[in-house]
Amino acid sequence: MLANDATRGWCVFKMSRDKLQGALRELDQARYNHERWYKDLIRTIACGLPIDRRDLAEDSYRQCRFGQWYYAIYDEEFAKNKTFVSIETEHRKMHDMAAKLLGSVMREEAIAPTDYDNFANVLDRLQINLEALKHEIEETLYNRDPLTGVHNRVSMLSDLRKLQELVQRDVQKSAICLMDLDHFKEINDRYGHQTGDRVLVAVTRYIMDHIRPYDKIYRYGGEEFLIVMPNTDTEVGTQIVERLRDGLGTLAAVHHGLEPLQITASFGLTMLVSEITVEEAIDRADRALYVSKGNGRNMLSVWERSMEQALPR
Ligand code: GH3
Ligand code: MG
Ligand code: MG
Repeated sequence: MLANDATRGWCVFKMSRDKLQGALRELDQARYNHERWYKDLIRTIACGLPIDRRDLAEDSYRQCRFGQWYYAIYDEEFAKNKTFVSIETEHRKMHDMAAKLLGSVMREEAIAPTDYDNFANVLDRLQINLEALKHEIEETLYNRDPLTGVHNRVSMLSDLRKLQELVQRDVQKSAICLMDLDHFKEINDRYGHQTGDRVLVAVTRYIMDHIRPYDKIYRYGGEEFLIVMPNTDTEVGTQIVERLRDGLGTLAAVHHGLEPLQITASFGLTMLVSEITVEEAIDRADRALYVSKGNGRNMLSVWERSMEQALPR
């Protein structure tokens, strides 16, 4: 249950880094093979060379080298990715259209311009999807925290600034919330660092499974995370975070031997607002978090002006 395969939020993939790295390595080769197939096909048609009968087969999209790669890596997790699924659709269409072009050649008919255009268009769409897939895999590999799979800090500030611009233009409100696990040092001290790591994975996995698809969680520091909730006011943000806080209680199922571990976290929520920078907004969330810690932990505090007196931790 505590496997390190946690990646969600805005993310698309929920699989191991090894697998993604493998897919990324093979993707370029698959694209290259595909391009060679396409060039051969055009050469065959243009020069009137003998047709490769495999291109006429109903399952040609499975038999070509690209198809062999695609269906070899196809699994439940890849199937959840829209780009990956689109690639299948476009690739199949492309083979259907290639067969149509070859059909005209075999009947010694001129290829209809619309047939050729359709073929060329689907080929373009396939290329765009392949580039998008590469980009998505790279994003997953390089902008994610290796332990938990949540976003690392690489893109955090620029993501926040984009939301801040929407706030400044009155397009939408956004809430942010810092979360810090309670007495986490004690968990490490009592059960070991490895159990601590498993707790971090379990907690972030829970959060990712329970935030909305457009919310995001970043690893801000060791056992500290920033939850970013676009299009959210204080009231809704509070409801969401209270639900998460409550839900973390169910993670008592994280066992160390037979002893259940009770994990709690403290939260500090604030809104992105026009007058202050995103760094200052994070500072406000931190002050609110500090208040939660001071008031007994396992609670959420929403930033208010009086907290400016609260000591930064
Ligand atoms: P508080 O309730 O006040 O937040 O208490 P705390 O013990 O959680 O706070 P403190 O900041 O003193 O301790 C945080 C601990 O988190 C210390 C550090 O060893 C641990 N930690 C940070 N990153 C990791 C990690 O990646 N894995 C593990 N296992 N522990 C980590
Ligand atoms: Mg802590
Ligand atoms: Mg901490």
